[in-house]
Amino acid sequence: MVAELRVSRESLNAPFLQRVEELSGQNVFACYQCGKCSAGCLFAEHMDLLPNQVLRLLQLGDEGVLAARAPWVCAACLACSVRCPKGVDVARVMEALRQLALRRGLSPVEVKLDRPVPQIALVGAMRKVTP
Ligand code: SF4
Ligand code: SF4
Repeated sequence: MVAELRVSRESLNAPFLQRVEELSGQNVFACYQCGKCSAGCLFAEHMDLLPNQVLRLLQLGDEGVLAARAPWVCAACLACSVRCPKGVDVARVMEALRQLALRRGLSPVEVKLDRPVPQIALVGAMRKVTP
């Protein structure tokens, strides 16, 4: 007999998914895993999870995704968002995950100012340590 796996929004971690979708404004279930986001991400090689894998874990309601480094490596360049054939703004999903992780005190980012940095770099860095 073949085992059946039934996955639905109700059977998954609905409150967590709801929060991600509220913060990002995106429907993570729209993703059909084509991988175009990951193929176009210039930072993918430095990520522990590829952008499409982040989406997949979210679809499965896996809160463990909050411990991933990928959202922190993400530079919010929007390449993934413009490439997605399903209109999923992956960059906004990454931002939502950073926000949720910050609220749980899970930021792995440490800002050290031992040399002058451009103002925009400072603003970008602070967004990764401030909930
Ligand atoms: S926004 Fe982030 S995840 Fe998307 S392509 Fe740019 S670096 Fe990669
Ligand atoms: S490009 Fe869009 S549909 Fe394709 S894997 Fe990425 S998020 Fe999913």
